[in-house]
Order: sequence, then structure tokens, then C-alpha cells
Amino acid sequence: ENGGGDAKNLRVKLVLLGDSGVGKSCIVLRFVRGQFDPTSKVTVGASFLSQTIALQDSTTVKFEIWDTAGQERYAALAPLYYRGAAVAVIAYDITSPESFSKAQYWVKELQKHGSPDIVMALVGNKADLQEKREVAVEDGMDYAEKNGMFFIETSAKTADNINELFEEIAKRLPRPSV
Ligand code: GDP
Ligand code: MG
Repeated sequence: ENGGGDAKNLRVKLVLLGDSGVGKSCIVLRFVRGQFDPTSKVTVGASFLSQTIALQDSTTVKFEIWDTAGQERYAALAPLYYRGAAVAVIAYDITSPESFSKAQYWVKELQKHGSPDIVMALVGNKADLQEKREVAVEDGMDYAEKNGMFFIETSAKTADNINELFEEIAKRLPRPSV
């Protein structure tokens, strides 16, 4: 679903899903404010931030980002967050196989109940923790490919691939016909 805006200025709702602790809030903070705060607090309720990026073809995309808490534990709340979302970023922690399983649960949930044309990205975060890696890059990549998703590994800590994540999502958005 296209959230709004005209052909050159898109506005899209983006929702973050994934286990608690995988780094969803840190990814958003890194993208929107360029910061990483290792002492950041657990998100309470839902927080809302927006950030606009410009693409090469002079299109701008304003992401309205819903960073959620609670959906991790109370799956029944999740539809409130992802309803009307044009984009879902489903994150896991590359040091946590459990979080990778949980990410797959969210993918299935969105395939069943999300908007049919939702753009989904699978994100393996904490890529800076290579020595603690327990989810192979190939496993993330294969799963994403089988499910028609974009895949990337990121680090909110080092900023690695954070901008690339949002740029790639922007490129994959359906454009309103003129
Ligand atoms: P959320 O529950 O998914 O929103 O996770 P948070 O953003 O609150 O992050 C959970 C913990 O992981 C915090 O202690 C962060 O400092 C840490 N963290 C988040 N992203 C990264 C990352 O890319 N690398 C490392 N090493 N730690 C991270
Ligand atoms: Mg959070």
C-alpha cells in the first residue's frame, strides 16, 4: 500500500518487528539521528520518528517509522502496528538463532495478515559481533530470497549498512502511477 504523497514525494509507514533486544530502536536512532547509545532504554509502548531521504532520481521518501515494544511479547498487539504499513523491517540479532526463528514467525504473520504489496526487509543486526555469530549470512540470505524479501546485515553500533538498508527499501517501493 502506498502511504501517500505525490509521484516525486512519497510518504510511507514503516514498522519494525523482531525480538526484544535485537536492536530495532538502535537501528532507528542511528538512521534518524546518526547516534548509537549503548545505554538506551527499552522502548515503552511505541515511539514514532520520521526521516526523509532523497533518491538519485530526485524522488524523496519520507519514512514514518513505528518503533514498537510490546509486540515482542504480546503478539495480539502487532496488527495495530503493521496495519497500513507499506514497509516492514523484520530484524534479528546475528548472535541469536532464537531471534532468527522469531523473525521467520513475523514474516509468516505478515504474509498472512499484512498488506498484500508490503515491502519486507530482513535485517541481521549486530554484524559487528562477528566472533559471536550464530546465524550464517547464507541462512538469512536464503530465507529472504525464498520469501521475496530484501536482505541485509547491519550494525547500529558501527553504522554499517544502516543508510543502505533504508535506501534499498526506498528503491523497492511501488511508485504511484502518474
Ligand atoms: P530492541 O529491543 O530491538 O529495540 O533493541 P535495542 O535497540 O534496545 O538494543 C538492545 C541492545 O542491543 C542494546 O544494549 C544495544 O546497545 C545493543 N545493540 C543494538 N544494536 C547493536 C549493534 O549493532 N551492535 C551491538 N554490538 N550491539 C547493539
Ligand atoms: Mg526497542
